[in-house]
Amino acid sequence: MVHSYQAQSFDVIVVGAGHAGCEAALAAARMGCETLLLTINLDMVAFMPCNPSIGGPAKGVVVREIDALGGQMGRNIDQTYLQMRMLNTGKGPAVRALRAQADKHAYHMLMKHTLEKEAHLTLRQSIVEKLLIKDGKICGVETATGAKYQAQAVILTTGTALRAKIIVGELKYSSGPNNSQASTSLADHLKKLGFEIARFKTGTPPRIKSQSIDYNETKIQPGDETPNNFSFSSKDQDYLKEQIPCWLTYTNQSSHDIIQQNLHRTPIFTGIVEGVGARYCPSIEDKIVRFADKKRHQLFLEPESRETEEVYVQGLSTSLPEDVQLSLLHSIAGLKNAQMMRPGYAIEYDVIKPHQLRPTLETKLISGLYTAGQINGTSGYEEAAGQGLIAGINAALKIAGGEAFVLKRSDAYIGVMIDDLVTKGTMEPYRLLTSRAEYRLILRHDNADLRLMEMGRKLGLINDDQWLRFAIKKEKIKNELRRLNQLKLKPTTEVNEKITKLGYKPLQDAMSAAQFLKRPEIGYSDLLQFITPAVENLNNKEVEQIEIAIKYEGYIQKALDKIEKLKRLEAKRIPENIDYDAIDSLATEARQKLNKIRPETLAQASRISGVNSADISILMVYLQSISKRRSSS
Ligand SMILES: Cc1cc2nc3c(=O)[nH]c(=O)nc-3n(C[C@H](O)[C@H](O)[C@H](O)COP(=O)(O)OP(=O)(O)OC[C@H]3O[C@@H](n4cnc5c(N)ncnc54)[C@H](O)[C@@H]3O)c2cc1C
Repeated sequence: MVHSYQAQSFDVIVVGAGHAGCEAALAAARMGCETLLLTINLDMVAFMPCNPSIGGPAKGVVVREIDALGGQMGRNIDQTYLQMRMLNTGKGPAVRALRAQADKHAYHMLMKHTLEKEAHLTLRQSIVEKLLIKDGKICGVETATGAKYQAQAVILTTGTALRAKIIVGELKYSSGPNNSQASTSLADHLKKLGFEIARFKTGTPPRIKSQSIDYNETKIQPGDETPNNFSFSSKDQDYLKEQIPCWLTYTNQSSHDIIQQNLHRTPIFTGIVEGVGARYCPSIEDKIVRFADKKRHQLFLEPESRETEEVYVQGLSTSLPEDVQLSLLHSIAGLKNAQMMRPGYAIEYDVIKPHQLRPTLETKLISGLYTAGQINGTSGYEEAAGQGLIAGINAALKIAGGEAFVLKRSDAYIGVMIDDLVTKGTMEPYRLLTSRAEYRLILRHDNADLRLMEMGRKLGLINDDQWLRFAIKKEKIKNELRRLNQLKLKPTTEVNEKITKLGYKPLQDAMSAAQFLKRPEIGYSDLLQFITPAVENLNNKEVEQIEIAIKYEGYIQKALDKIEKLKRLEAKRIPENIDYDAIDSLATEARQKLNKIRPETLAQASRISGVNSADISILMVYLQSISKRRSSS
């Protein structure tokens, strides 16, 4: 019988040093809170159990947003990547996204070292089994060794470990990712406390030995030569020259036949899997069934680290029996002699249904208790890290008696994600996509600092050097935009000769340099043939801002007008103790949904499915009558 004992007191305790936990702990410590980060295994800090990559559509923008707010993920990946690629360069700025192949071991080591060196942060290996609660308010945690740590705020970031079970073919056993320890006692405890729990699942592909791959039968996927980075603190001159490539191959008919012939042994069809999987991350067996007409599926061979021979077979996530996985691998071009180092597997785990959270990620059930990451039903390192940062910031603000920090849907993808979770909930692992953001033209990769760095500075998470670089950049962009709007280009012979030489249509009338730059065929470098360069040299990132601000001005203004309109509803707060049952004219479905979600603003209420505009008008009138009554009493 383990004896419990009083251990130290802290301001904030974070449970789990995954992608959410690291950001939460660093944010709270950097905002001056004495912070304890407890995790099952220190060798799995910021561990990547699945794809060894950071970024991609929407996710890449989140990493930039985390960096602009003073988080760590961007700086960490910029120092530990194997290759970087900007995706969707042929498309508009709203969908451009950076993706980096991570050296997952170097990523882990650097993040762990950053945590160890951080002031006000204590990192400790331990399994949390219980929450200590008094009168509905959190006051600490108890671990498997009996240690009772006190704190004013606790942030749970337990990822895929809650009551985790691994499934490979007919085999199912209690385990966290990569055969790490599952967290079952805490899962039981959360259920007993009354949290509504769901069961989700995700999966990962086999890992194979690089030397056993015949790369001649695959197609090289090199990184970009053009420097790029996730962190606004990183410098282009540090961009990696020697990048490690990935390789492309495909499944084929015999691969598909092997899966078809063994569908009866796959966990999804044998019913051994209970958890709900991610629609946007299907297993290979899922793909074969759902897209039966497809002749082949892309597979990317992604190196996991410079320090290992392990290669991740992206696109072959599976929980097929081990023997079937082996024949499947050997059916693929380049992998005929592949040595499987780790089989693919599925993992199912408990999540807390996120409608039980406030937009600050504090739970409604227990004051001072926050949850972030996969525990809230999301999937992805970036999604987890974004939530961790917000939870860490709000725990620190609450302890300091500060105002809650909530990002709106028009501020950031992080705002879109959290609002979707707490307002709509999720029935399957939630993954961020550009299509989820109605203001995606505003929420771009390139302008995350212009959108968020001032907020990060106010929170005390942006240091002087970062702030100075940002302030100079912002000023230069502002000055140049003003200059281009003031500078006139006249249809003189000399100007039109130059334009014609460039192969473009000559000017008919005088126009501002900005109007000239609006022409799709004209770039900033072309414009400089007609005007003197800016006093202060502009670097590529600043030129990119100028071009986007001018070329997309109309679309951006339209989005900003929409945001302005919504601001009135966003500002209209709903009293926490409102009695929806007292509002007769509300539709039944709306009343039920409003009672379940308890939205904090009229705008949030308007986003709840089943609450229509008529209900919102009724609510608005009701709120006006309440405030009138209050002001007259
Ligand atoms: C097999 C697998 C496949 C995946 N596939 C994908 C995918 O295809 N696409 C995708 O986007 N994402 C995928 N993911 C999800 C991705 O790994 C997670 O989204 C991400 O790691 C979540 O970060 P997190 O911080 O919430 O949790 P994690 O990174 O899981 O970290 C949680 C940490 O908390 C610790 N912990 C848990 N319970 C306790 C406790 N009681 N006490 C102390 N410490 C505790 C754990 O040991 C772990 O270190 C996959 C994950 C797994 C396991």
